[in-house]
Amino acid sequence: MVPIDLTGKNAVVFGVTNERSLGFAIGKKLKAAGARVAMTYQGERVRPLVERATRGVADRLFELDVTDEERLRAIVRELGQSWGGIDAVVHAIAFAPRRAMEGKYLETTKEDWLKALEISAYSLVAIVREAMPYLNEGAGVVALSYYAAEKYVPKYNVMAIAKSALEASVRYLAAELGPRGVRVNAVSAGPVRTVAARSIPGFTLLWDHVEKVAPLRRNVSQEEVGNTGLFLLSPLAAGITGEVVYVDAGYHTIGIPDPGTLDV
Ligand code: NAP
Repeated sequence: MVPIDLTGKNAVVFGVTNERSLGFAIGKKLKAAGARVAMTYQGERVRPLVERATRGVADRLFELDVTDEERLRAIVRELGQSWGGIDAVVHAIAFAPRRAMEGKYLETTKEDWLKALEISAYSLVAIVREAMPYLNEGAGVVALSYYAAEKYVPKYNVMAIAKSALEASVRYLAAELGPRGVRVNAVSAGPVRTVAARSIPGFTLLWDHVEKVAPLRRNVSQEEVGNTGLFLLSPLAAGITGEVVYVDAGYHTIGIPDPGTLDV
């Protein structure tokens, strides 16, 4: 067995709501590997719930609306200075107004389009920029993406465009940060039942479809996404950057589904 030992390393996960959150899944694995873990959540009123869900995993919790750049800067500075550096950053934040996902993409308003891109894609750039002064040599960044970044998926609408921007940002940040020894990658997860997933119209149909046609004939778990996040943030992935790693039971590798699978 090759162990992943992150003892003495410091990780910050942006975007945790509860124990089903994909950010929490990665944070839990980082903690199990020995890292110190900070997490951010949105909205002071949910703090008791987040505290309960993250007990034993999050060493520190911060409330953050990622569009508040001053607050973001203050949190990252506080962590970077008190910890003496940051080794792992997880971006697990996404949002699009519901009406933008229910209607036609053609009807997306400028306001909704910009809001979705700001929160779901630009925030990665803002987070990495603020974290840069504190990132240690060998540090890693992982963002969470979805297949709709590269292919049409019904109802994903502006969130698909945000994920395309997020993946392109991963490549640009990887190129710019690589010379400083910092790696930037994305995990593209298949459908997983989380709060954010519930806001995607037709999520259950998507879930059922993947289960039928994916090579592994099933969906993936939070734990599988967590394991891949941990791997990418560990020295085992020291040669990987600018990459999008799929954790989707192989779904994205299918061109035309096996006709037999569609009748099941
Ligand atoms: P989740 O638990 O709902 O996590 C999404 C997080 O984003 C929530 O904590 C949410 O806070 C936060 N957020 C939204 N707007 C924010 C803002 N302005 N400032 C700060 N935080 C904000 O759902 P999840 O599925 O784990 O999502 C995590 C990431 O995985 C997202 O990027 C998502 O697109 C991606 N992903 C999910 C799936 C899936 O099937 N679940 C598949 C592929 C990729 P609130 O709770 O306050 O809204």
